[in-house]
Amino acid sequence: MYHKYNAIIVGAGGAGLRAALELSSVSDVAVITKLYPTRSHTGTAQGGIGAALANREEDHWEWHAFDTVKGSDYLGDQDAIDMMCREAIAVVYDLEHMGLPFSRTPEGKIDQRRFGGHTKYEGKEPVLRSCYAADRTGHMILQTLYQQCVKNNVVFFNEYHVLDLIMHDGACRGVIALDIATGEVHTFHAKAVLFATGGFGKMYKVTSNAHSQTGDAPGIAFRNGIPLEDMEFFQFHPTGIYKLGILITEGARGEGGVLLNGLGERFMERYAPTIKDLAPRDMISQAMYKEIREGRGVDGKDYLLLDLTHLGVDVIKSKLPDVTGFVRTYLGIDPVREPIPVQPTAHYAMGGIPTDLDARVLADGVEAPVPGLYAAGECACVSVHGANRLGTNSLVDIQVFGKRAGANIAAFVRESPLLPLPPSHDAAVVEHLSRLRSSNGGELVADIRAELQREMMDKASVFRDGAILSEMLNKVAELKDRYGKITIRDKSAKYNTELTEAVELGYLLDLSEALVVSAIARTESRGAHFREDYPERDDANWLKHTLAFSKEKGIELRYKPVVITRFQPKERKY
Ligand SMILES: Cc1cc2nc3c(=O)[nH]c(=O)nc-3n(C[C@H](O)[C@H](O)[C@H](O)COP(=O)(O)OP(=O)(O)OC[C@H]3O[C@@H](n4cnc5c(N)ncnc54)[C@H](O)[C@@H]3O)c2cc1C
Repeated sequence: MYHKYNAIIVGAGGAGLRAALELSSVSDVAVITKLYPTRSHTGTAQGGIGAALANREEDHWEWHAFDTVKGSDYLGDQDAIDMMCREAIAVVYDLEHMGLPFSRTPEGKIDQRRFGGHTKYEGKEPVLRSCYAADRTGHMILQTLYQQCVKNNVVFFNEYHVLDLIMHDGACRGVIALDIATGEVHTFHAKAVLFATGGFGKMYKVTSNAHSQTGDAPGIAFRNGIPLEDMEFFQFHPTGIYKLGILITEGARGEGGVLLNGLGERFMERYAPTIKDLAPRDMISQAMYKEIREGRGVDGKDYLLLDLTHLGVDVIKSKLPDVTGFVRTYLGIDPVREPIPVQPTAHYAMGGIPTDLDARVLADGVEAPVPGLYAAGECACVSVHGANRLGTNSLVDIQVFGKRAGANIAAFVRESPLLPLPPSHDAAVVEHLSRLRSSNGGELVADIRAELQREMMDKASVFRDGAILSEMLNKVAELKDRYGKITIRDKSAKYNTELTEAVELGYLLDLSEALVVSAIARTESRGAHFREDYPERDDANWLKHTLAFSKEKGIELRYKPVVITRFQPKERKY
């Protein structure tokens, strides 16, 4: 089946919908999504969206930018960070004007709460900056944007799984997608494509990410010769529910919750004396692993406690209703009375598809845009988060760069002709699918995926070491080999999720390899990348972005400088 649009957006999360909305008033646009739009992972975001509105106390976007640069361990590009923090204010008001039901101050302004790493006077004390709708901020963003898109006649292809780009002569001309309901392959011919497919936390066993977070667009881009930037930086959020990984928002600590070790000590006082439990996530997750390793886990086990009991039932009910509901449901614990068992959970990919400030994908990772190809949101790396993202800054990122992507694509499609499709543009995809469907090697997708997740958790998570990462690289090679010998038992065309999961596992394997190769090379510790064999940050050699290219001989690494404008790298103390 053939479809033609000026612009195609792959992904109906906060980034994709914001771009679609921006485009919808000036161009035809279709959104392709493997999930129903309102099931996108953005809908699970709890804590808030950061913007220096100064509704509760003095604040400035420049402070937000300072915190973001420092939070990124100085690896974030400061031109992009300035842009994001300045435009954050407008995108929050955009959402308010669209009708998003933010939590309010008594005088009716958007309420704001504290969050990790967000401070006033450049690091002096925590600031009230996160705009929120109880602990359902992402849900409200997604519903609000979806309603606006429907109102503006955006076309949706729900439950269509995009499998490849159509590239010819270095330009993007559309995408190929599988209609999950029928098993048919569709061609989407377009002047411009935006990738907005979210993150890839499913490469880890304990993760806050939904099952769909498999890095499809970064995987597709990588196979099409586009590099991946800063893949070694993967964020672990300190407070996942023990063993399950389900997230308890940092907003819980923003409201005053504290972390305790097995001795009942508020251990963050030792690691970050100024802002304690509101230190950035990389520092807290590393501190938690350290406490556990040194025998101060609870009952000698590998978890710690998040204590909300002193907040009182009113705060918990009005500001954290959903997360406390999860704890009651999954652990049978009432957070009003008992502390919650928590452990760090794989949460957010700082790395991804390299783009410029206009969301254009960069073929060489540095300056050469691929005509017609854009990326925004968690799948992209612009880079505003550097080596560690601050809480609330992903929702800002997806709104600011989703909006910019939409505006830039609108200008591009106005000026550019529709390029013809290359001959046999879908042959490779059809062949790949039929090879997967008929494969009979005996290995199961679920087994390989479980082993990948377990091994990545053990060998490439919060604490890393060169020798162990090398073992992981061998493991990925072994798993890729086994992946070549899978059996898809379901041979049917309709809703063949075994087939789509096999496709997704292929991306997870490729992205894990890119992560591990990038992590082995980076012989320093910065942000979320902590090397026990190289525990210091090394600005002389490593103040640079990694670019991983997929080449015939294997992964090739190149580097590019960090954009530094106002803030020179300093020691990071909180
Ligand atoms: C539990 C949780 C809580 C969070 N809380 C916060 C918070 O409070 N504040 C904050 O700033 N950040 C938070 N984050 C991070 C933030 O929510 C995400 O980084 C962000 O929402 C990602 O948005 P996105 O638009 O890039 O992608 P997503 O919302 O993940 O959307 C991806 C879209 O791509 C589609 N897709 C993927 N692959 C394909 C394919 N092959 N074909 C077709 N469609 C495809 C999916 O269907 C989906 O529509 C949280 C994350 C999690 C997991």
